[in-house]
Amino acid sequence: MRISFLGSCREVGRSAVLVESERNNDRILLDYGVKMDGTEDNFPGHIRGRDLTAIVVTHAHIDHVGGIPIFFISGAVPLYMTRLTQDISDVLLRDMINIARYNSNTDLLFDKDVLGRMHRHTRTLRYNDRTQVGDESFITLINNGHIPGSAMVLVEMDDQAMLYTSDMNATQTQLMIPVVPPTQKIDALVMESTYGTTDHQPRLDVEKQFIEKVIEVLESGGTVLVPAFGVSRSQEILMVLHKYIDASKYPIYVDGMARKIGGLYKRYRTYFRNYWDMRNALEKSNYISRDNTFEQRQQAKRANGVIVAPSGMLKGGTARMYAEAVINDPNSAILVVSYQIPGTPGEVLLNEHKYTFNNGEQQEIACQVLKFDFSSHSGKSQLLDFAKQCNFRDSEKKVFAVHGDEEVMISFVNDLNEAGFKAAAPKQGESIKI
Ligand SMILES: [Zn+2]
Ligand SMILES: [Zn+2]
Repeated sequence: MRISFLGSCREVGRSAVLVESERNNDRILLDYGVKMDGTEDNFPGHIRGRDLTAIVVTHAHIDHVGGIPIFFISGAVPLYMTRLTQDISDVLLRDMINIARYNSNTDLLFDKDVLGRMHRHTRTLRYNDRTQVGDESFITLINNGHIPGSAMVLVEMDDQAMLYTSDMNATQTQLMIPVVPPTQKIDALVMESTYGTTDHQPRLDVEKQFIEKVIEVLESGGTVLVPAFGVSRSQEILMVLHKYIDASKYPIYVDGMARKIGGLYKRYRTYFRNYWDMRNALEKSNYISRDNTFEQRQQAKRANGVIVAPSGMLKGGTARMYAEAVINDPNSAILVVSYQIPGTPGEVLLNEHKYTFNNGEQQEIACQVLKFDFSSHSGKSQLLDFAKQCNFRDSEKKVFAVHGDEEVMISFVNDLNEAGFKAAAPKQGESIKI
């Protein structure tokens, strides 16, 4: 088999891996994401839909699914993913199209009709079901602990097998069961390396510190704003909040896409560590609804409670409106719960204690700002342990690192090589015969 690296090479974003047979025409594309950084080169390397046998989407994050509609503009390819990934992808892709329309300077290649065609060609798979997708090729989707519905992919082709981890998490979270290395024999491992140089703090410590801060702010009469992405991170935070906080005393408000995503989550039992804990947490939260939105938001802003709202880095979304209501209050706090890209309003807020208004002006803030590491990616030791626990067929143990910043990836690849693997960080467009 041949593996070509079309994206997310020495960078995070626009994930895409092509697996081709050396014996027949089987050609399977794993993910085709978009890198949203405002530059022109946003998509992975070009590949024609008609040359593909199948496409697999590992999960509903735009850096993995954002470019998939391209293959359905004038053609169609069998598309495989879990049912929940299909549902969430649909919401996110529609949102991406709306945002592109709103910022009319952004040219998007496809519209919502394309999504209908994409939907019709999607074949949903359950975890661990081995499925034939080409003449002699099989895929198996396996839980990878990242977000609900996410999967790693085992591709079997030419009497060989490769495992693509996609984004994975070996930490048990409120929402997710951690990833476990599959027992099947493999000839190559393509793995993410987002946190290839750092370990996360133990999760329960993070939860405890987060809750201690939330309680301190609530008891002093303030408001807590948690800027969080509506998919997975918001629900995780709601589960943590409801585990420790009495919502009848301190209301917990949720704004933005999290409402719709929570509704989709509630339809499936299989993708969660504890479905009923999740459901309870979602049902005890106060969602800002479409009716009386203005009044409800005013109420949330004034409340001695917690608000969970997007976006996670305060680049847009309703979190900005809530932030503007709390930044001058020393009794209130903004608690960020995800990585903050340098230069984003969230990062400036955290590190410089300044709020950036829409017109670019910055102002010193009075409220507290703290970061809590609720990552949905494995840390360095977990990544290394995962590779060590994989069942390699031969002693060469080929590992290819993707999905990480260049310096991180190079250091991680060195660590893998020292641990006895034959590891590399492929460059964009590199193609390797296994
Ligand atoms: Zn992801
Ligand atoms: Zn990703």
